[in-house]
Amino acid sequence: LAFSSCSLPQKLLQNMETAGYGMPTPVQMQVIPAALNGKSLLVSADTGSGKTASFLIPIISVCANFVLNNFSNHRKPLAVVLTPTRELCIQVEDQAKTLGKGLPFKTALVVGGDPMARQLYRIQQGVELIVGTPGRLIDLLTKHDIDLNDVQIFGLDEVDCMLQRGFRDQVMQIFRALSKPQVLMYSATISQDIEKIASSMATDIITVSI
Ligand code: AMP
Repeated sequence: LAFSSCSLPQKLLQNMETAGYGMPTPVQMQVIPAALNGKSLLVSADTGSGKTASFLIPIISVCANFVLNNFSNHRKPLAVVLTPTRELCIQVEDQAKTLGKGLPFKTALVVGGDPMARQLYRIQQGVELIVGTPGRLIDLLTKHDIDLNDVQIFGLDEVDCMLQRGFRDQVMQIFRALSKPQVLMYSATISQDIEKIASSMATDIITVSI
């Protein structure tokens, strides 16, 4: 499988080439076609496997196609990605910006340590993807009216770590604020508990182990 056979936006393929992505990594080979087909996935993959791009590539593709094909001035979040830490969120948003360059695809970072007002303003200006930590995003959602009705993809990176940090309730609360999104969930190890959470969010979830 090559990236070019995945019917991704031309500009995204160009950005991937510029970033030095030659062939898809094993996790990308399994995840990208299924995710583009609208499937929900529970993926066990480590850092270094190319897991970040495996969820960002489908997210950027879905967002860019939606904006291009449907409503050119639709600027509401279409995807939300949660990670356990501010640092990881910054890395994920960075990669999203690199891959989404030149496409109708904007991102907002919602993490602690930055003024919430600025994050809110950024979202209100119109973004397709919100990348955040569960705590700060809940904080923002409970204090402000943010329209998440059009969110189609919910990405969860390092879920095991999120649970260790006690973010379970926040993660579920954010999930409930969305209307039956496609779920892309990642964890280094997959416990029964994580399987239970995944199946509570989506029916016929596909498990991918690398
Ligand atoms: P990750 O597993 O998401 O932490 O990614 C590890 C590194 O691999 C990142 O620096 C990515 O930019 C890079 N990467 C992701 N996908 C590919 C690919 N298909 N080919 C080459 N490098 C990649």
